[in-house]
Amino acid sequence: MTERSFDVVIAGGGLAGSALGGVLARSGLGVLVVEKEDGFRDRIRGELSFPWGHSEALRAGLGEPLDSVGAVPLPEMGFYEDGRRVDGLAWNSISIDGLPAIGFSHPRLQEVMLGWAESQGATVLRPAKVVGVADGHGDGGAIVSATSRGATTEYHARLVVGADGKTSGVRRWLQAQTVTDPEHHRFGGLLLSGVRWDDTFAWASTPANVVGWFLTGADSCRVYIRLTAERVHETGAGRSPEAFIAFAARAAPEGTFDGANPAGPLGFFANSCTWASHVTRGPMVLVGDAAGALDPSQGLGTSLLFRDVRLLSELLLADRDWQRATAEFAKRREAYYDVLRAYDRWLALIEHEEGPEGARRRELHAAAREADPTLGGFATLEACGPDGLTADEAARRGFFGEPPA
Ligand SMILES: Cc1cc2nc3c(=O)[nH]c(=O)nc-3n(C[C@H](O)[C@H](O)[C@H](O)COP(=O)(O)OP(=O)(O)OC[C@H]3O[C@@H](n4cnc5c(N)ncnc54)[C@H](O)[C@@H]3O)c2cc1C
Repeated sequence: MTERSFDVVIAGGGLAGSALGGVLARSGLGVLVVEKEDGFRDRIRGELSFPWGHSEALRAGLGEPLDSVGAVPLPEMGFYEDGRRVDGLAWNSISIDGLPAIGFSHPRLQEVMLGWAESQGATVLRPAKVVGVADGHGDGGAIVSATSRGATTEYHARLVVGADGKTSGVRRWLQAQTVTDPEHHRFGGLLLSGVRWDDTFAWASTPANVVGWFLTGADSCRVYIRLTAERVHETGAGRSPEAFIAFAARAAPEGTFDGANPAGPLGFFANSCTWASHVTRGPMVLVGDAAGALDPSQGLGTSLLFRDVRLLSELLLADRDWQRATAEFAKRREAYYDVLRAYDRWLALIEHEEGPEGARRRELHAAAREADPTLGGFATLEACGPDGLTADEAARRGFFGEPPA
């Protein structure tokens, strides 16, 4: 292999790209990870992986970077109303291998994961931006152009992986359409220091809003708020860190955010799923948000990317025919993404539909849950993942407690 030829070139060294790069390099493949950022900063991204995602990461062999970043075990989910805890869920009672959820600093894990990928033998090019992908020299591979410090270099790859996030450029070069569900809410986040909280992932939900918070490190607490765009404006929750903290404090037990200080930027983002019409073509394949991002407020994005990393790496390492391996990845990815996307929409209706229709829906849902606590497997999705689930009309009716058709 020459210096500029790799088995796999990965566009994007976020969590998906660097994790995949490390896993493939560890198995002896020649891997180049191209990352455009010189250093990672807080972009207000996923900092909680549910037990399913935790399990996927461990199965992919990512225990070492999770340990190095000091991921915080979050064994319980606590549900709050009017500042009081009304219910709780111990993950180990339902999760795979009794695993807890984990909290972590996203930019720190990006940094650690990219360093880990390098330690496994991947070459990391940074800061460098992938600016084009073209067909290879008739050998079934591809040529990737990357610009770094004003110079553009071409790399030959047997496979190009687009791990370049929700606004993926590789998605365009792969000639896929970008499809987006309509926005239903906004999801905002702010990192705080000086919060005294335990290892519970707290979730305070009313039809009008959701506030969630959890520890991501010794003195860092991530707080998220979900509101409609109109309410972000009306309440002023996005106007300043102080307004955001005051809004969150009203949902949390008294005193939770007393003495809290902003430790990162504040921002609100559209809640909608965005995905590629297809995730592979020729020697190109997409993973993570580039393949399909979920509504961020359901908190399943990192679990999904760890699943992508595990599945794609297993298929590539098991089959010398990478066209067949990526086709199989695409088929399975589409199936589990469809389930996760349907679940996102169903849950948003249960949590947020207002007025008598919403109240009735929640009543029926609660009754269905009493009859079947797993709701056909959908109620344990965060703990066990989407395998074996189909989001068809029968499942939808079961979830909403409607009689079978
Ligand atoms: C507000 C918010 C809250 C969220 N909360 C949660 C949560 O609690 N739990 C959860 O599981 N998920 C959550 N998510 C989702 C989660 O953050 C994403 O699913 C995850 O970050 C996707 O990772 P990725 O590596 O696929 O993409 P990204 O994180 O977007 O990484 C893409 C990388 O590619 C690089 N890149 C882009 N273009 C190029 C190029 N041309 N050349 C080179 N490099 C390039 C970028 O610099 C970046 O490093 C949340 C998302 C948002 C917006």
